[in-house]
Amino acid sequence: MKQSELFTKTLRQPPKDEETINAQLLVRAGFVNKLMAGVYSYLPLGLLVLKKISQIVKEEMDAIGGQEILMPSLHPAEPWKKTGAWDKVDVLFKLKSRTGKDYALGQSEEEVVTPLVMKNVQTYKDLPVSVYQIGWKYRDELRSKSGLLRGREFFMKDMYSFHEDQKDFERYYEIVKKAYLKILERVGLVAKVTEASGGGFSEKISYEFMVLTDAGEDKILYCDVCEFCVNEQIAKNKAGDKCPKCGKGGLNAATASEVGNVFDLGQKYGKDFGLTFKDKDNNKRHPVMGCYGLGISRLMGVLVEKFHDDKGIIWPKSVSPFDFHLINIAKDPTKADKIYESLQSEELAVLYDQRQVSAGEKFADSDLIGIPVRILVSDKTLMEDSVEIKERKGSKTQLIKIKNLAETLKS
Ligand code: ATP
Ligand code: MG
Repeated sequence: MKQSELFTKTLRQPPKDEETINAQLLVRAGFVNKLMAGVYSYLPLGLLVLKKISQIVKEEMDAIGGQEILMPSLHPAEPWKKTGAWDKVDVLFKLKSRTGKDYALGQSEEEVVTPLVMKNVQTYKDLPVSVYQIGWKYRDELRSKSGLLRGREFFMKDMYSFHEDQKDFERYYEIVKKAYLKILERVGLVAKVTEASGGGFSEKISYEFMVLTDAGEDKILYCDVCEFCVNEQIAKNKAGDKCPKCGKGGLNAATASEVGNVFDLGQKYGKDFGLTFKDKDNNKRHPVMGCYGLGISRLMGVLVEKFHDDKGIIWPKSVSPFDFHLINIAKDPTKADKIYESLQSEELAVLYDQRQVSAGEKFADSDLIGIPVRILVSDKTLMEDSVEIKERKGSKTQLIKIKNLAETLKS
């Protein structure tokens, strides 16, 4: 894509109404635009990143047997009343129609997915089933000051699994946890798997996937020897205590952001809706369910919090809007245009800055936008039939002959 075709403009200064690095940089670089607190539009560059993260999540959910669906965001109030969530879930957005009827906006979708899936499950032979969707969620959050980390409308993957018994659920629970760690690894993050309370309805513990960052809103305690990690909110322990698991290490406190969460829902939703299947002995049973959330837009914000410097964003390659940023500062653009065309024909993802602006402005924008590899064409490099390659995260530059460029970039 030619940079001149982007309708978005970069800003020299951070916007005054943003407090966090992720929102400041994403707005400055033209990835997102704030409509109001906690609600953003995704602009061409930002949407590319959101789609890349979504694609990685999709691949890993498909790999563990998840079937992708798309459920509505506008829900009738009745199922929410049936499960008790209408009164108990404080973040639920409620709407009243001009007809007087009540509706809810989806903040999670157990109320919709349970009757939907169970309509198709008659016997144990129809189980297990796992379905997921990727889309908007709505929550009436009191404070939305953390940019993409806490939206009132945000992008989430939510998966729901249905099992004949607890044992089969436990088996799948472990598989999903591994898939989550794989997703995080693919986007360049390391997470701590943290024990937490099971949320509003459950006595059971859940697991949160926590990425350490000062921009996060969670406090966790983790052992410096074993993998023990717990959310401070529910912990019986405090920082400095001996690890209750291994007894060797000490507990450290850290600030983190919860990018994902997996829950054991037990039989709650099957019971609430009175939905059953016939087990092997021909007895009626409620399904055992799990739900698995992953904050895709929050992940995008966390990536910026983790990967930036004072000049801008530094995207991991797997989620960058483009793989290469081609910049021309030579007087005559003919050679750079040719290079762009040849990289396009090799199907490399290139953003090409051929704008009539100063070299300084081009470098500043390139650092701000944060594409992992910069390719510079200047009168100086052209004297050697070369371009200069530089990684966004380093300072080392390398001259590459134009005739070898596509091959080099591919390797
Ligand atoms: P939090 O404690 O941060 O409010 P939660 O426990 O309410 O999160 P879940 O209901 O488990 O979150 O939602 C699944 C995932 O969706 C979370 O792990 C998080 O990554 C993301 N998420 C939740 N709320 C928001 C929000 N307001 N904005 C952006 N992402 C969110
Ligand atoms: Mg919440």
